[in-house]
Amino acid sequence: MDYNDNRYDRYDESPVNELTPLIDYEDLSHYELTPEEKAYEEMIRRRIRERRRAAERRRIKRNRTVALVILLVIVLVVCRSCYASHRKKRDEKKADTKITTAEKKPAKQENAESKAEAEVSDDGAEDESGHKMQQVDGLTFVDGILIVNKTYSLPEDYAPGINTAAQAAFDEMTAAAFNDGLYLYVNSGYRSYDEQYSLYYDYAAERGVAEADKVSSRPGHSEHQAGLCFDVNSTEESFANTNEAKWIAAHCVEYGFIVRFPKGKEAITGYEYEPWHIRFVGKEIAKDITEKGLCLEEYLGVTSDYADCKDGLSQERMAQELGVTVEDPYGNTYDDTADNSDDWDDSYDEGYEQSDYGWNEGWDNGY
Ligand SMILES: [Zn+2]
Repeated sequence: MDYNDNRYDRYDESPVNELTPLIDYEDLSHYELTPEEKAYEEMIRRRIRERRRAAERRRIKRNRTVALVILLVIVLVVCRSCYASHRKKRDEKKADTKITTAEKKPAKQENAESKAEAEVSDDGAEDESGHKMQQVDGLTFVDGILIVNKTYSLPEDYAPGINTAAQAAFDEMTAAAFNDGLYLYVNSGYRSYDEQYSLYYDYAAERGVAEADKVSSRPGHSEHQAGLCFDVNSTEESFANTNEAKWIAAHCVEYGFIVRFPKGKEAITGYEYEPWHIRFVGKEIAKDITEKGLCLEEYLGVTSDYADCKDGLSQERMAQELGVTVEDPYGNTYDDTADNSDDWDDSYDEGYEQSDYGWNEGWDNGY
């Protein structure tokens, strides 16, 4: 028998379970195998064992691979969910920080409000005109708007600097004006109590209190001390005719500003027309005021008169306080009607020549 005969090759190709010995011992129990047949039989059985072992090894190997893949997937999923939860936590932490910062601000406001409630007596409620007036640490708010004029003053130690929202709105506005080919800049922004004091004092010493009251705010009564307004570009009356002034009149409302002392409202605001002085009140209120064609005093139902100020001084008392006169010490008379800037400039020159004081700025810079 030739063991290398081709007919045995089928064992190499058949699946293990199809491999069966050629000889059935049950039937052939009586049959005496020759040594060659025995050897062949042994070889076949050895091959079968080897194949089974090989199959087993393959099965184990396959299972190991599957297990490894499953393990890898699990590790991946776990890592992903870990990272996701880490990210979520981080985001929540961030959000928390934001919320805390956001909560801090209203807390301050609440503080101010509770203070207001504590310090405001009868004024806290709406009056018959429907306006709500509040006094907070010496500041007067009408319908939540800080009012500073001849009737309502600011405490001497109130020094907030320029309001950040007002500054941001101003920057946005100047950028827009620049796009329209116009250059707007701050002539005068925040002014401290002391700065206003010396400004007013200089006018009063030069022209007397009566004239000073026409061109400059008394210390504590300037909106500039509140940090909510800007004098833009020039404070000369001729500014009204410039493209810049026209642009401001048309567009400042879009950025939350109003022209604070409009033409025709002089008797109500207590000040001459100032096309350069803009007050920040926020977009909504600015729009409302502008659409209604009112000045701030009309809008809030208040006056602007030193006679109405609770600790306002008469011109005589003011002159005494400052050590100056009520009337012009040089006997000058001033024709300061709003439309007559030439006369105004002439009187400025006269005042300058007769004075010991040096004037760094124009007359019309004191509101
Ligand atoms: Zn001003």
